[in-house]
Amino acid sequence: MRNDGDVFANTAIPWTPRDVSAAALVVGIGMIVLGASWYGISGEPDYFNQYRWLTGGIAGTAIAYLGLLRWILPAFRRVRRLERAVLSELRVLGLVEVDRTVRVVSLVLPADAVRFTAPGMNLAHRADCALLTGKPGVLEIGDAELSRRGLGRCRMCAS
Ligand SMILES: [Zn+2]
Repeated sequence: MRNDGDVFANTAIPWTPRDVSAAALVVGIGMIVLGASWYGISGEPDYFNQYRWLTGGIAGTAIAYLGLLRWILPAFRRVRRLERAVLSELRVLGLVEVDRTVRVVSLVLPADAVRFTAPGMNLAHRADCALLTGKPGVLEIGDAELSRRGLGRCRMCAS
């Protein structure tokens, strides 16, 4: 069930040239409308006549934001696609469990995994856990000892 060929190809650039052109065009139109409104309002001394230019400026800003959305949404789609592909690969390898009903991803620790703790800690950790890094007196702890001491398991490293 490997699908790196299509999903992981071209990971660096989430946009097609058409996406970039369309976004740049819409942002450009918005900036032109905003610029024209700025120019118009700067030459209008009557406060009440400035409203139409202000409206134009707001519309230009909104159009420019739509262009930016046109630019950012393909990137978000690409990230979601890659995330699903990575989770699928990790699930195939047995490294994660994915519960789609509650949108939870859990790391799976092999049954024979070794856990560690250090003096003063209330949790057991995997060897590579950041919470264990630099702690003095780190020692290996088995399941029986873990239960006897009443230690919990670290949720950060899913020990
Ligand atoms: Zn940990």
